[in-house]
Amino acid sequence: MAIQHELSWSASRAGTFVACPRKYYLDYYGSWLGWQQGGDPARRQAWLLKKMTRMPMLAGQIVHEAIEAWFIAKREGRPQPSRQEFLDTAVGALREHYQVSKQGKWRRRPAKMCHLAEHHYQEERIDEASGAAATYGTRYKERIIASLESFLDMPELAPVREADPSTWLACEDMTTFDFEGTKVFAVPDFAYRAEDGSVHIWDWKTGSPRKADEFQLQVYAGYARDKWGADPDKVIGFDVYLTTREVVRVEPGAAGLDGAFVRISESLAEMKSLHFNADFEDGDPQAFPLIEPGFECSSCNYRELCDRV
Ligand code: SF4
Repeated sequence: MAIQHELSWSASRAGTFVACPRKYYLDYYGSWLGWQQGGDPARRQAWLLKKMTRMPMLAGQIVHEAIEAWFIAKREGRPQPSRQEFLDTAVGALREHYQVSKQGKWRRRPAKMCHLAEHHYQEERIDEASGAAATYGTRYKERIIASLESFLDMPELAPVREADPSTWLACEDMTTFDFEGTKVFAVPDFAYRAEDGSVHIWDWKTGSPRKADEFQLQVYAGYARDKWGADPDKVIGFDVYLTTREVVRVEPGAAGLDGAFVRISESLAEMKSLHFNADFEDGDPQAFPLIEPGFECSSCNYRELCDRV
C-alpha cells in the first residue's frame, strides 16, 4: 500500500516549524512524493535538497551508528570490536561518505547515499586547493574519535555499557505513540530498566547543548509511559554531550510530563491550522513565509529555492 501523507509530530519537526515556516513546508509538503521518478519536477528538486546532509550531521549519524553496532554485537553475543577497530570503522565511514558525495555517486540512490550540502553549494570550507577541505574534514574526524572514546571511557556511562541486554528497552528504535489522535515520533538512543525499576533513557549528542534537548527527553518520558507503562516519577533522562563529556540529567516527573504534553498540544494546534493533504494538492507556499536572511539560511539545504545562495 502506498505511503499516505499525514500530519505527525516530532520534537525536530516542531523545531523546524518555529525556525523557518518555509523550510517546514519544503520538508513536509513541498518535497512529498519527490522520490517518484518522473513526478512533479519542483517536488523532485525539493526532495533531492531535503535528502542532503552536512558534515556535522553526518558525523553525528556515524557516531550513533557506531554505538548502535556496539550494542547489537553485545546483544548477539559477538565479540566487541577492539578500541582501534571501533574508531577506525567510524573514521572509514566518514571518508567513504565524503567520497560518495564528492564523486556524485549519490545520484545512483539519492535516498540512501550521502550528498553533502557543502559539495552541492561548493562552499569554501571544502575547497581542496586552499587546504580548507583538509582542515574541515579533520575537525569532524576528531569529533567522531572524541565522541566514541567518551562512550568507551566515561565513568558515568559504565551503567550503560554494563547493562544486561535483558533489561534493554530501546536501542535507536524509531517508534511512535498516539497523542490526541496524531502520531508522535520518538527515537530514544538507548533505554533500559534499572534494578530499582526506574527507566533510564540516554541520548547521545555530538554538538553543543540546545534548549530543545531537555524537551526531547520529556517527550521520550511520555513515550516511556505510553509504551512501557513507566511511572513518570521513575523515568530519568540523560543528555550525554560526548565531545565535552558532560551529562545532563533530566527527571521530568508527572508535572514535567504534563508540561511537555501541553507544549506538544500547542505545537500541534499551530501545525494543524496550516496542514493540507500533499497527496492531492500543493497548498499555498506563501502561507509558510521565508525568514530574514541570516544564520539559519547560511546552512540550509533549500538556499537555492529561496535565493539565499
Ligand atoms: S533558505 Fe532560509 S528562508 Fe529558505 S527555507 Fe532555508 S532557512 Fe528558510
